[in-house]
Amino acid sequence: MGKDIRVRFAPSPTGDLHVGNIRTALFDWAFARHTGGTFIFRIEDTDKERVTDEYIQRAIDTLKWLGLNWDEGPEVGGPNGPYLQSERLNIYKEWADKFLASGAAYHCYCSSEELEAERERQRAANVAPGYGGTCRNLSAEQIEKFKAEGRKPVLRMRMDDGATTFVDEIRGEVSFDHKYVPDFVLMRADGSPLYTLAVAVDDVLMKVTHVLRGEDLLSSTPRQIQVYKAMGLKPDQYPTFAHLPFVMGQDNAKLSKRNGEVSIAWYREQGYLPEAICNYLALLGWSPGDDKEDISMQELIDLFEVHDVHSSPARFDMKKLEAINGDKIRALSAEEFLNRALPFLKEAEVITGTNEEISLVKQALPIIQERIVKLGEIPAMLKFLFVDELVIDSESKEKIKDDLSKDVLKRALEVLEPLGTWSHDSIESALRAALIEDMGLKPRIAFGAVRIAATGSHISPPLFESMELLGKDASISRIKAAISL
Ligand code: GLU
Repeated sequence: MGKDIRVRFAPSPTGDLHVGNIRTALFDWAFARHTGGTFIFRIEDTDKERVTDEYIQRAIDTLKWLGLNWDEGPEVGGPNGPYLQSERLNIYKEWADKFLASGAAYHCYCSSEELEAERERQRAANVAPGYGGTCRNLSAEQIEKFKAEGRKPVLRMRMDDGATTFVDEIRGEVSFDHKYVPDFVLMRADGSPLYTLAVAVDDVLMKVTHVLRGEDLLSSTPRQIQVYKAMGLKPDQYPTFAHLPFVMGQDNAKLSKRNGEVSIAWYREQGYLPEAICNYLALLGWSPGDDKEDISMQELIDLFEVHDVHSSPARFDMKKLEAINGDKIRALSAEEFLNRALPFLKEAEVITGTNEEISLVKQALPIIQERIVKLGEIPAMLKFLFVDELVIDSESKEKIKDDLSKDVLKRALEVLEPLGTWSHDSIESALRAALIEDMGLKPRIAFGAVRIAATGSHISPPLFESMELLGKDASISRIKAAISL
């Protein structure tokens, strides 16, 4: 492409980063890594009422957790910083002053009431809403008069006549008639910049070559291009735009809290693996071809091409994400699985982290690795191994109160107590012989009661392995306790 590729992810963290943000970050990152370019992380925090320091920190942590490392940005710095817009206010002011001096922008003294009245008139006349240009060409006297009235002006960009046309890498040629792009505000009366000013100035000063971002920002592009023009850029110096398709919920409405969980923090808490999230999000609007759905970060880097991104909306499918997460969990080495599981067990206070506990966790993990979809399921599955007093959940308790269950448990006790070797094989043979062969029961009935007695729930890891890990004494005393319920 003749120049070094520089892309940026530029969120305004007014909450936790959501699925759409991260899909954008991921594609930006993959594009930068694929081309050997630079990935810039910029925080757009000029709206200090909505963007908090805590959300900024969480955005940084989320990117790190996902492995989307950046070359320039918060914490790592870089030659084009600062990378927090709130630390660049003097830069926006300088450019705003230049635009005013050159006539590219002008002071607008209209009050909010006057602007509202104008919109009202436009609605009544059924014409497109927008600033009509009242203050475009004020005389010196008019300006003096407004000043004398104590009015504080905003700075407005003067849109030229005509249209903005650009080639979007995903959508092809896009054109906006300036009839529908009214003069817009660059700076508020208090001197604070608006998004359109800050984003365009920063993209130029940070030498961004490609703007990959969500489709919701497509309509702000002609305004940003107007800022580039005011900064003296020629069309071949503008960044290339690529607007990524919307992410919709299952109901085809734009993904939101209402039709799907959006915050990445939620997925992290539930125990989705970062590599599964990246794998799944990569498929939202892009595919490597061949229906391939299992993608590693390295494959994403190797295969990602912007022109393979589709323009039609992508649909978020939780079931597919769960399936990918389950696959990635099964693919973890024993050591990796342990490292990922321990924080969940500690957080849920199932273990404190003693060596003894960890060694039991190590033995237990292989029996659940095949069965779980999310790491967040681990504490409930393994809790029975770490409690002195087993609490049987109420639904399960009801299931073992009948006479047949009591008979099953008594018979189980009879054959388990004399067992010399306590292994899953010996437990299984003893229970099968007694309950299935002698009593003629179906496995579900027979083992169900023992499962509840030993683990406290009718859903548990494999029974015989669980009992082996629990140990003979605890297993026996739990069966006794269940009999006397
Ligand atoms: N800060 C903007 C947002 O979070 C995105 C800026 C951009 O990508 O151009 O919506």
